[in-house]
Amino acid sequence: MVLETKLKAAGMDVDCAPNGIEGLRKLRAEKFDLVITDLMMSEMDGYQFTHAIKTDDALKSIPVLVYTATYTDAKDEALARNLGANGFILKPATDEDFFAEVKRLVSQAAAGALPQETLSLEEMAYLRQYTERLVRKLQDKVGELEIARNRLQDLNATLESRVKEATSELRRTNEELEAFAYTVSHDLRSPLRSIEGMVSAVVTNSPPLSEEERQQFLARAAALAVQGQHLISDLLDYARLKSADLPLAPVPLERVVNAALESIGSAQLARAKVNIAPLRSNVLANESTLSHVTYNLVANALKFVKPGVAPSLHIFETERDGWIRLSITDNGIGIPADQRERIFKVFERLHDSRAYPGTGVGLAIVQRAMEKMRGRVGVDSNEGNGSTFWIELPTAG
Ligand code: ADP
Repeated sequence: MVLETKLKAAGMDVDCAPNGIEGLRKLRAEKFDLVITDLMMSEMDGYQFTHAIKTDDALKSIPVLVYTATYTDAKDEALARNLGANGFILKPATDEDFFAEVKRLVSQAAAGALPQETLSLEEMAYLRQYTERLVRKLQDKVGELEIARNRLQDLNATLESRVKEATSELRRTNEELEAFAYTVSHDLRSPLRSIEGMVSAVVTNSPPLSEEERQQFLARAAALAVQGQHLISDLLDYARLKSADLPLAPVPLERVVNAALESIGSAQLARAKVNIAPLRSNVLANESTLSHVTYNLVANALKFVKPGVAPSLHIFETERDGWIRLSITDNGIGIPADQRERIFKVFERLHDSRAYPGTGVGLAIVQRAMEKMRGRVGVDSNEGNGSTFWIELPTAG
């Protein structure tokens, strides 16, 4: 098609045939100034085609130009020329060379100056050479097919293992999802059950309740309903994180910590001592997600203190091997060594929600967010003597 377009653009009339048989039919039906042929064609290849033209008295004065690329070596050209081809060009040729040859052949033929070689090959010799060329081409083709088949086999094997991987990943996700749904329904149901119990005690008033008890029940039911709402919105945050696309960019740690403290609010910070070391690093992260993570950690550090103890926090950064660690040390109740992994799972809480209100989702959000930002999270703690939660992210200068 490229050739046809180029020839037409050069002002020539062009007709095309898919193979030698069709080519011969067209040559016999109309007058042509030049034949351009490939070698590998179905039905009748370029050798046979050239041979047929050059042994036909009505056609042999038409110049034949072989234009080919497939499995070509010097013997191909020799055979084509022996069969009467007047020109032989290897693909890809520059337009300049190609058109020069086309013009040379056409004007030579028009001037009646086309060398009319009497075929130098005996029929038997031609057949032998032709068979040799054909066998070589077929061998090449078989070799090429062999390589293609091996490549396909490799591809199939990788595909199979990828499908296996994807299936087991899917199965794992499904199992996780089932376990998650179970926990969610359990944890959502328990405040609902308590609300129902307290409200119906008030409604039925049997056994009879004092006014103070009624107020207490209703206040507790209202608090549980609020907790249920928090639970749902925390769960949504957690679930959304899984599929969220978190673009990462350099983020100054100082800005993140300030944003977290601002969200916590001055009222809650008023009774705490918060010491922040100079934060000079930038990390590679998603800023709003990192602020959310920092908020959760600071909020926990402020919350989990013994009753009557004023929270005291130390926030600082350290750097090692291209990683920036942001640490938040508190003077809280600490975490037993054997519980330090558990608390990062959804709904895992070590304390009664009356003593320390919460949903048990905060650290699960932290862990998932850190995974998604290709960072790490951990905790060091002396039981009863404060904890240090830390997150690590790659430095961004
Ligand atoms: P929540 O704070 O809503 O209870 P989290 O997922 O944030 O849920 O934390 C899970 C549990 O880990 C908490 O219930 C608490 O037992 C423990 N924990 C988290 N942070 C601290 C901390 N700074 N000091 C002591 N215990 C903590």
